Amino acid sequence: MTGNSLDQHLQRYAQRTTGMRASAIRALFSVANRPEVVSLAGGMPFLNSLPLEALAVDAAQLVGEEGLVALQYGSGQGILRLREQICQVMSLEGIDAHPDDVVVTVGSQMALDLTTRIFIDPGEVILAEAPSYVGALSTFSSYQASVVHVAMDDGGLIPEALVAAIAAVQASGRRIKLLYTIPNYHNPAGVTMAAERRPVVAQICRDAGILVLEDNPYGLLGFDDKVHRALRADDADNVIYLGSFSKTFAPGLRVGWVLAPHAVREKLVLANEAATLNPPVFNQMMISRYLETYDWQSQIKAYQHTYAERRDTMLAALQQMMPAGTTWTHPTGGFYVWVTLPEGFDTAAMLPRAVTNRIAYVPGNAFYADGLGSRQMRLSFCFPTPERIVEGVRRLSDVIDAELDVMRTFGAHSPRPVGGPRSPSNDTL
Ligand code: PMP
Repeated sequence: MTGNSLDQHLQRYAQRTTGMRASAIRALFSVANRPEVVSLAGGMPFLNSLPLEALAVDAAQLVGEEGLVALQYGSGQGILRLREQICQVMSLEGIDAHPDDVVVTVGSQMALDLTTRIFIDPGEVILAEAPSYVGALSTFSSYQASVVHVAMDDGGLIPEALVAAIAAVQASGRRIKLLYTIPNYHNPAGVTMAAERRPVVAQICRDAGILVLEDNPYGLLGFDDKVHRALRADDADNVIYLGSFSKTFAPGLRVGWVLAPHAVREKLVLANEAATLNPPVFNQMMISRYLETYDWQSQIKAYQHTYAERRDTMLAALQQMMPAGTTWTHPTGGFYVWVTLPEGFDTAAMLPRAVTNRIAYVPGNAFYADGLGSRQMRLSFCFPTPERIVEGVRRLSDVIDAELDVMRTFGAHSPRPVGGPRSPSNDTL
């Protein structure tokens, strides 16, 4: 493209595109995907334990027996049978829902988009945990929301910090519409909201007239046989719940859902139709068959077992190899460990050296709307084998040690300001 036509396009873009930029790490990740690099960056589920041959038979049967429905346009809300099954899945988390209030979406990412679309006008505030999911931050930014982060600790979102954030935003005259929270096995922080905090957080939001957006793709992937009660289970009117089959089954099918208060459901269906006409019928029917014919809870157990072993391996390797002053979270489920390096580190600046050393991670600032997180990084244990995880942590500790040497000789990096959330790639999700 010539410079001239590029300029013309720049002038044509809608204002909402200003927050959309590719991050510098995107380019690096094309290198990070080479087999010699151990990637602790991506949040890809480890699909090898899926019953692929049986699923292939299912897919063929679906086309043969119900192809004229499966390959046709469908309902903007999603097929009824699957919505009924989704209600059964959610009942494991204490949710008592009606299929009428479920809207099937193209992954929960689309659900995030639709919810933001129907609630947020430019400049309105969304509260989100510090740090928060990069894909949500870029959706929020594309609707020109203003994200205000709220502190977490090992017990998840801190209610006192939530109260303080609400007061500060209200004092500045801005309107808060949503609290976006990932209560279970947080991406990227790896922590889980304590049971006693859940009703407190819900009450604070109700009192302040703020809707809760509960994003729960990892909820069934706990390692201790425990399923945490959803915030939605005790607050049907003020919580919009997002679920997904991406982590418990397969992300390639791109099927997620929203469970919304009845009045909101109607607008969501309209927004869904405007965006995609309908979620893919074939994929919904595949999932519906899978839930019907397989022992899907055993499949989830197999995932839990795989990920628990990898979590243990990663935590042991970190314990053994990370330098003093480094801390990390101890997830009880999900995919991620959140690592904080000693004062003076800049994980974004260090990433090119890490990739040269054949190890990739996601720098912490990707998970903040305001450029914080420079000493932090997300490591995922979901995809690499335990051997690769150990090797990855070893390489990472070499990079950190070399960086420490440089810092001792020349002084610490001055942290570089980084503006706004960047467009996520498959490697950062
Ligand atoms: N929310 C969170 C917290 C996630 O980690 C992800 C995927 N990484 C999503 C939503 C989107 O998932 P999907 O669209 O595949 O359902």
